[in-house]
Amino acid sequence: MLLEVEDLCVNYGRIEAIRNVSFTVEEGEVVTLIGANGAGKTTTMKTVSGLRPVRAGTIRFKGEDITAVPPHERPVLGIAQSPEGRGCFVGMTVTENLDMGAYARTDRKTPKVKEDRDRVFGLFPRLAERRTQIAGTMSGGEQQMLAIGRALMASPTLLLLDEPSMGLAPKLIQQIFDIITEINKQGTTVLLVEQNAAQALKRAHRAYILETGEVVREGTGEELANDPAVKAAYLGGD
Ligand code: ATP
Repeated sequence: MLLEVEDLCVNYGRIEAIRNVSFTVEEGEVVTLIGANGAGKTTTMKTVSGLRPVRAGTIRFKGEDITAVPPHERPVLGIAQSPEGRGCFVGMTVTENLDMGAYARTDRKTPKVKEDRDRVFGLFPRLAERRTQIAGTMSGGEQQMLAIGRALMASPTLLLLDEPSMGLAPKLIQQIFDIITEINKQGTTVLLVEQNAAQALKRAHRAYILETGEVVREGTGEELANDPAVKAAYLGGD
């Protein structure tokens, strides 16, 4: 098992954001966490990347307990997050942003980094066209692509994507999901948080549904996409 999250509890002060959340991600999978606003998806993701401390529970990565590993050390282990709301370095160019993503790599001074940059440009031709553009002047969708590209530059085993389709036009949403599928096919395991449940379930091998801080269902993407209760609650009832 690549990632094992067990009985995770996270609070914001007295507010219990997530309670006893358990899930697993196997190497090679796309696993999605879906749920309504405030269900605890972002909190779960931030805890896996180390940005939120746990109140209780365990996170294991490649069999090792990483619950107490600080966030800046997790990319070294192979975990990289593309944050919700983009989070590019707005004053830097596209290329500089991508290079920042490689900071934690021990091989960052080698040609491997350039190869990975070319791989990102292959996945996102739009970024290749704009490699000298200042990130802050790019469109929302382009910045979203850049944030994903930057996370990929860490050469992660596990890529955490928090709402990659947020705020994008329908055509671009399709494109982003196609790219996520391609990233997975190229060998990166993906944990995906999404409000676009229909697309996420279609793309994911397995999924967990969070409701008010707890996992209430799990199954394959297909099982959940065809489940009447899931359809009614998350897929617009169709
Ligand atoms: P969304 O889809 O709206 O982003 P989410 O499923 O990602 O929602 P979280 O952002 O993880 O949900 O929030 C889970 C709960 O924790 C919510 O009740 C939220 O109000 C609360 N919460 C999140 N961040 C904070 C914070 N910084 N301070 C206090 N409460 C917070």
